[in-house]
Amino acid sequence: MSRAVHKFGGSSLSSANRYHAVANIILSQASEGDVIVVSAAGKTTDILVKLWQSYQQQDQQALSDVLALLEQHQSELIQELLVAPFQQSVLSALAGELADISEQINTAQLQEAQLLAHGELWSARLLAHYLKQLDANARAFDARQLLTLADGQLQHETNKQACAQLGLTQYNVVTGFIAADEAGNTVTLGRNGSDYSATLLARYIDAQSVSIWTDTQGVFSTDPRKVKRAIRYGKICRAQANLLARLGNPVLHAKTLTPLKDSTIKLVVRSSFDSSSAATEIVTEGLAKQKRFITNLDNYDLLKVADLHEGEVGELSRVIQHALHHFDHGDDTFLLVPAQYSNQISALLTGRSNLVESNVSGLAIVCEQGAGHTLAAQAKAILAENNVTLRFVSPHDEYCILLCEQQLDTDRLTILHDQLVSVSQELAVIVAGLGNVGAVFIEQLEKQLLRLNQLLPVKLVGLVRSQHMLFNPSGLNPENWTDTWQSQAVPFISKELLNHLSELDYEHKVVIDITASESFSQLYPQFVDAGCHLICANKYAGTAELNWYQALQENLKLRNLQWRYNTSVGAGLPINFALNDLLNSGDKVERLTGVFSGTLSWLCAHYDGSQPFSELVMQAKEMGYSEPDPREDLSGRDVQRKLLILARELGLTLDLDDIELSPLMPQALIDGDWDFFIDNLVLLDEYVSKLAAQAAAQNKVLRYAAELELNADKLVAKVGLKPVDKDDALATLKPGDNIFVINSQWYQDNPLVIQGPGAGKEVTAAGIHSDLYWLSKSLAK
Ligand code: ADP
Ligand code: ASP
Ligand code: MG
Repeated sequence: MSRAVHKFGGSSLSSANRYHAVANIILSQASEGDVIVVSAAGKTTDILVKLWQSYQQQDQQALSDVLALLEQHQSELIQELLVAPFQQSVLSALAGELADISEQINTAQLQEAQLLAHGELWSARLLAHYLKQLDANARAFDARQLLTLADGQLQHETNKQACAQLGLTQYNVVTGFIAADEAGNTVTLGRNGSDYSATLLARYIDAQSVSIWTDTQGVFSTDPRKVKRAIRYGKICRAQANLLARLGNPVLHAKTLTPLKDSTIKLVVRSSFDSSSAATEIVTEGLAKQKRFITNLDNYDLLKVADLHEGEVGELSRVIQHALHHFDHGDDTFLLVPAQYSNQISALLTGRSNLVESNVSGLAIVCEQGAGHTLAAQAKAILAENNVTLRFVSPHDEYCILLCEQQLDTDRLTILHDQLVSVSQELAVIVAGLGNVGAVFIEQLEKQLLRLNQLLPVKLVGLVRSQHMLFNPSGLNPENWTDTWQSQAVPFISKELLNHLSELDYEHKVVIDITASESFSQLYPQFVDAGCHLICANKYAGTAELNWYQALQENLKLRNLQWRYNTSVGAGLPINFALNDLLNSGDKVERLTGVFSGTLSWLCAHYDGSQPFSELVMQAKEMGYSEPDPREDLSGRDVQRKLLILARELGLTLDLDDIELSPLMPQALIDGDWDFFIDNLVLLDEYVSKLAAQAAAQNKVLRYAAELELNADKLVAKVGLKPVDKDDALATLKPGDNIFVINSQWYQDNPLVIQGPGAGKEVTAAGIHSDLYWLSKSLAK
């Protein structure tokens, strides 16, 4: 039976609402038999630490304030979550425990670890009762019955046997952070230690995976609360996660990875605030490329130490319950100690330590092997430019430490992040559809990569066609992709494509859809879930049913991903840019009209009555100006879709059917099949010639036009044949061209007009390159 461990940190249990969310995650994503490890709710451990400090200082006022605070926080959670009879029994148990703490304070018998353990015990009891209330079979466990240490060493055999109590038919809610020594006394595993409890328990129950649920969507390049542009990494390797933890980063406890050594247990960090979002997997070496991270160092002392014996840093770290980092610098060894513990550590080191810097802050940059020295020099220069005086700099191969007097503010951290971390990001490109436009796009790509690579490294890693696909995470050569395709392409299976995309270890990924396939467009939500930006010439997603379309847009926004589709209307013509620009500059578009179909533009411009309309249609078909079945063009659907895309661009929440459609053929031809169409072309000719005659009577000509009127009392959105004056911009249009006529507040009498070829493989491919360029440029910022 495959089992999993789910660990919920304090941030996931900070309020009754958070408990609701956690219970939902457990009931939907965990199974009976799984282990649910919980930390103390919210900041409870910090408050208990404060209680301990007040006890040591015999500060009576603080003691009673802190006790009152604890009681209030816990009883509120209990009252909000539990109903009778659980509420009463849990409240009375809490009252008893708080009374015991008071008694121990009064009789000077309070013990630190036992006191701190309450945070986790309260969480486990509350969550287990809450799950039971929801009819789930849940039981709370005190980890002191499961995890024993003798002389600081975990007793693996004993522990494994004890873990047999964790039943297969129930949710086992276990306290994180705490364990027992051989005599049964409480010991703790250090701050953030519940992560470690989770991986230990996973090892003991032979779990397949551990999920660390927290308040961020995984591990980022830096604290996403401080730097908005922090990048979420899909995968990071264990060594880098470990180094981050040793440097005091809270996202994982330093020992979390130890129990996973030589195991295949999967470890992921994910968000309990957005359980469906992407996560970060911590993988074994070699399975992820090395990334860059900035981690803050706030208020540390730097000690020069001598004669450290093996394991001593671990012991010291256990005593202060905090990660400790030691490193060699020059001929000396240094220890980075949170300032509040520095006296305690100095005392324990009995004369072997020297305070070199006190109360310093700053940062560490974790990076790919070999980059630490260069990054230290660059960071030093950037900080000097930004008026930060450094006190100490220590470069190493795979990281560097820079200490200064004050904590670095968000602005400075952002500058460092932009210049030192963002620059190392790469963009992976996957191109789907290698027909006319797609083939030209790839041809142009080779030259374009030279330009893009000046912004950020861009690699073509995947090619997809309707039957086959080709993937190479290290990059495909656009120059000779056809050779590689011959020998390495594999059948196209959408599930496999999605696997490839989520496995791709790039900071940025983009799927470029140059297909005309509706079923491929239906995969967009899953591309977005896999962290991909979207660029498409395909019109289906942009005109899909409104709820689907809006959910996709929201998902993109949530993940900070872009969707560019400039070529879905007017090929390379910058119509989307122009509309966006008008909106961004505060203008209001009042009317948008034009000819949006190259085929219909060609047909209408050439029709003067001297030859039947159907002959022109067949001629267009022969020359490849129309779709293979020209009825697709004549149906007007394509123009209707284009108008919908532009209307949505203008913020209108329309569906396709909200746009009135008059096809360029009579109903009988729409209803019939291809043979009927061919046999009855005369119906088409009669239809068009009749309308043309009516137009001519008014000295007008026919154009197949799209119209969007935003200023009218009632929204007008329609496509169809329209009589226009002979000198109208729509009438004088070069056959085959598109035209977009925009009237806005600022372009009222004299409209803004965009005109030119609205189809063609070169211009369309170039338009897609424009989207790729703007995407790369915005990512490189
Ligand atoms: P939990 O209560 O779930 O154990 P912690 O507060 O211990 O959570 O750790 C999560 C916090 O770590 C986040 O809220 C975030 O502010 C901080 N953090 C710092 N650096 C990073 C990073 N590189 N990636 C993600 N989170 C980070
Ligand atoms: N509650 C403990 C702490 O705050 C352990 C943990 O959260 O992992 O450090
Ligand atoms: Mg934590």
